[in-house]
Amino acid sequence: MENLTKEQLIDFIKLFAQKVKDNKDLLTQLDKEIGDGDHGINLNRGLDEVIAISDSFNDKDISEILKDTGMTLVKTVGGASGPLYGTAFLKAGQLLKDKDELEPNDILDMFIVMIDGIKLRGKSEQGEKTMLDAIIPAKEAFKEELEKGSSLKKALKEAEAAAVKGAEKTRDIKATKGRASYLGERSIGHQDPGATSMALLVNALNESFIKNETEEIDNEDTVGIVLVSHSQKIADGTRELALEMAPDARIISAGGMSDGSLGTDLAKITEAIEAVDSDEGVLVIIDLGSAFMTSEMAIDTLDKKDHVEIVDVPFVEGAIYAAIESALGSNKEKIKSVLEKVKLEPKL
Ligand code: ADP
Ligand code: MG
Repeated sequence: MENLTKEQLIDFIKLFAQKVKDNKDLLTQLDKEIGDGDHGINLNRGLDEVIAISDSFNDKDISEILKDTGMTLVKTVGGASGPLYGTAFLKAGQLLKDKDELEPNDILDMFIVMIDGIKLRGKSEQGEKTMLDAIIPAKEAFKEELEKGSSLKKALKEAEAAAVKGAEKTRDIKATKGRASYLGERSIGHQDPGATSMALLVNALNESFIKNETEEIDNEDTVGIVLVSHSQKIADGTRELALEMAPDARIISAGGMSDGSLGTDLAKITEAIEAVDSDEGVLVIIDLGSAFMTSEMAIDTLDKKDHVEIVDVPFVEGAIYAAIESALGSNKEKIKSVLEKVKLEPKL
């Protein structure tokens, strides 16, 4: 059974921060409709502070990472969501002591203590138009999948779908907790901002797992492919496309900086190369400019000249052809010659 690694957990927290930033205006707008219009601003402020300390996460264990995240949120979010999200992360940190990785059941327990923490802090229950109406259905869907014997991947996917649906359903609920409760009946018809941000959290947890899922890169005796783009979304999306064409390809993405901003990150690229490295070697596909220099530095740092090579091809087409060839078992030279042809191939 696959587990969620510490790296994936760190990625989860960073992705949550990025998603809240991308949806800051939406969350604030929802809070304007039934609250005081600061939810996106509050949560984004707190998560910016979490990102600011996230470099220290590499040297910490899962429990400390969750506790530091919770403490930072309590101190910096402001608004009700600070102590609520803060308590959820603190409780998770207290629970998951001495864990190197999280097994599916640990994640279920994490959901449970997060929910209990929010209920206790907010004196709230399901059905009151709060963040609980997103996280409780997520936990239930997750639990159901584990009981059916589904994979962690499937359970997280269903948890995300349930969280999104739960958040949407808060439209039909009359608020009885938080500022929205002042509106009474008039709160009906509006989606709860906290439930919406909670759905982003579950979405981030799911994506952090799929993104570098080790299960999908276990084709030990094929050439590894690394996609280096300035944008994490482009790298991840291109990998997704390539995997659709070649589901067994040993391909990984290394996009953007570790804080989610645009750029190319030496540590990220180095880790990605190591993750897909095999006896057959690795090909690195880059988008532009510094992607070449940073990838070259990663290869130098790893002392893998010739074993790991950068190829200069159109990013999307190159990724797809490389993935197909790699999955077919072609060696590095063969893949390179196919990619040379891709370069000359007109699109129409
Ligand atoms: P504030 O309401 O203080 O301005 P935010 O705008 O940051 O805080 O967060 C509002 C969100 O917090 C709500 O949409 C709701 O989901 C959640 N919330 C507020 N009070 C509670 C509570 N007592 N229990 C659970 N969640 C709550
Ligand atoms: Mg508010």
